[in-house]
Amino acid sequence: MTDRGDDGDADRDEFSRARERLVDRLRERGHVERASSLAALRAVPRHEFVPGGSRGRAYRDEPLPIDEGQTISAPHMVGIMLDLLDLEPGDRVLEVGTGCGYHAAATAEVVGPGTVYSVEYHDVLADEAEARLDRLGYDVHVRVGDGHGGWPEHAPYDAAYLTCAPEAIPEAVIEQVRPGGVVVGPVGRGRQVLVRLRKRTDGSVEREEHGAVRFVPMRDGN
Ligand code: SAH
Repeated sequence: MTDRGDDGDADRDEFSRARERLVDRLRERGHVERASSLAALRAVPRHEFVPGGSRGRAYRDEPLPIDEGQTISAPHMVGIMLDLLDLEPGDRVLEVGTGCGYHAAATAEVVGPGTVYSVEYHDVLADEAEARLDRLGYDVHVRVGDGHGGWPEHAPYDAAYLTCAPEAIPEAVIEQVRPGGVVVGPVGRGRQVLVRLRKRTDGSVEREEHGAVRFVPMRDGN
């Protein structure tokens, strides 16, 4: 496993050890199960994605504030969503809500370079995430826009996920996933649940619920 980032050796060792301990706990508690999801969480330097003042808390299993009043999800939530997405190396994945880019980096650890496409509403967040991902060696595509429209130019996707909560999963996102593919995301205003949709080959959609969650609301765009 390579360690990315530009900290001093001592800091880097401390961050890596804290990250190892965190991922061990997520595995032992059964929050995250797939080997590829656990390996992704072990690989991504979360402290590089959070604001300087929060770095000391980067390896606690909690959400943290990023810019523009948004939040980076807790590591267990990123792991749970990776498990639900059922990804294989080489899969094309659509992300709605790039934020600081952490979740996209974890997804890229699983699928590999060049096949994660992420749409972010805030231009400042998108620009910063793109630069950060690039600096850390992650080949992830980022564009500014309203995720309600997905990113049609690169469809079909094997899977898609949202890191912000709409009232219902946007139709365009479901359409841009191939038959057999899945969409994972929080749904609801107020009370939210994590849902997984699987698109059957006949075009119908199977829906499962995976518990109560709390994400930032998806912006309506206009
Ligand atoms: N995955 C991110 C979490 C970011 S929080 C990370 O690891 O940091 C959710 C993000 O969704 C925020 O950055 C917010 O700006 C973005 N968002 C909200 N509404 C959106 C919309 N309609 N289209 C695209 N992104 C949106």
